[in-house]
Amino acid sequence: MNKSDSERIAGALNVLGFNKTTNADKADLVIFNLCSIRQSAIDRAISKIKNFAESKIQISNIKSSPKPKILLTGCILNKNKRKLEKVCDGIFKIDDLLELPTILKKIGLKTTKNPNSKIRHYLDIKPDYEIGPSAYIPIMTGCNNFCSYCVVPYTRGREISRPAKDILCEIKTLVKKGVKEIWLLGQNVNSYESKVQNVREIDFAELLKMVNNIKGNFWIRFTSSHPKDLTNEMIESFVKCQKATPYLNLPIQSGNDEILKAMNRPYSVEKYKKLIKKTRQTFKKYRKGQEKILSLSTDVIVGFPGETKKQFQDTKKTLKEIGFAAGYISPYSPRPQSTAFKLKDNISPSEKRKRKKELVKIIENSALRFNKQFVGKNVEVLVFDKKNDFFLGKTRHHQVIKFLSDKDLVDKFINLKVTKATAYGLQGELTKVC
Ligand code: SAM
Ligand code: SF4
Repeated sequence: MNKSDSERIAGALNVLGFNKTTNADKADLVIFNLCSIRQSAIDRAISKIKNFAESKIQISNIKSSPKPKILLTGCILNKNKRKLEKVCDGIFKIDDLLELPTILKKIGLKTTKNPNSKIRHYLDIKPDYEIGPSAYIPIMTGCNNFCSYCVVPYTRGREISRPAKDILCEIKTLVKKGVKEIWLLGQNVNSYESKVQNVREIDFAELLKMVNNIKGNFWIRFTSSHPKDLTNEMIESFVKCQKATPYLNLPIQSGNDEILKAMNRPYSVEKYKKLIKKTRQTFKKYRKGQEKILSLSTDVIVGFPGETKKQFQDTKKTLKEIGFAAGYISPYSPRPQSTAFKLKDNISPSEKRKRKKELVKIIENSALRFNKQFVGKNVEVLVFDKKNDFFLGKTRHHQVIKFLSDKDLVDKFINLKVTKATAYGLQGELTKVC
């Protein structure tokens, strides 16, 4: 989401007459787009900003040139705002991106062009996309779920869905330009609803069908889904939309019902397992060949306040039973303003590290099993980069695959024969360029 917002910040600056530079020291303006999801993320950002602010004082002393101005935006907690105000020229909410001309004027920066005055919401700003075969399309912003550990509803505010026609128009333009992977973004895409005169018009199941009907050769992915809002209708739509890749990120967060309740995640482990069973069965019923296999990833938090050894064992058991293709395991980080912040953070950092390690091991085992079933098979791949001698691509099942070639294949769809599998990806040989 931050990556996508940064593209809109760059777009807003372009309209005002600014150009991008890859050298921050030469810039008139540097904007940091922050994330506060865990303390470690914001600590890293604060240290980068402080270092940059100090170096800019040194640069301006040497060159006697005006200092580059520093603005901050993104997810910032009130507590950090006060600290950060001292090292920057201003802080603005991403929702206030349309106010950028006024913000720039306040800090003494001139704009050479005027913004489009018809735009009403920052998501309507034309992004300056990063180059590559993939594009991130926010379909909504904010969150209404208030999971007890999470800061997003406080930093990003309530959920707002973008009108479907704007989303479709943005995607059509991108596909015409040659983009081959469309990521639909939202904190909970399953609760997407486009309204006309306050009447619900299009939900996520419907939106997926509309995106799938756009002409062109491209893949659809989406993130994140919330188990409480993943309906049978959505599962059917997802599976029947052939451009949607067989990859689902469905965060479980814990494999224990008491912890899920304390996290304010309103589903049980049993309900989560039923959803997975239903999704896997639907893929088997409606798709062909490898597309019958669902690639499932998840997010888990370890060491939530009061998580007992027994409750943690339940999470281990659940992860083993489900068999994820990938998993993002985070040690619990207390977030000011969230409701769990009032609870005692009573699991020690070393115990959290230990629990994380145990879950990573389980995920590595199931990921290796998942990846091994593709060895010897032909897979469709979208190539996104070249590093050292190897090209890097992504399969439809969202595995990273590396291979050698003497032709430049970046941004292309190709076919590879899988020769090797590890827990973290595949290796392959070129069979066909599409
Ligand atoms: N909206 C998505 C959902 O409901 O699953 C997740 C979005 S959140 C920005 C990404 C992940 O960060 C979450 O799935 C969770 O595992 C992790 N996370 C959020 N708050 C956290 C916290 N306080 N400590 C540790 N991990 C956290
Ligand atoms: Fe945070 Fe929960 Fe909203 Fe996801 S659904 S952004 S974890 S509050």
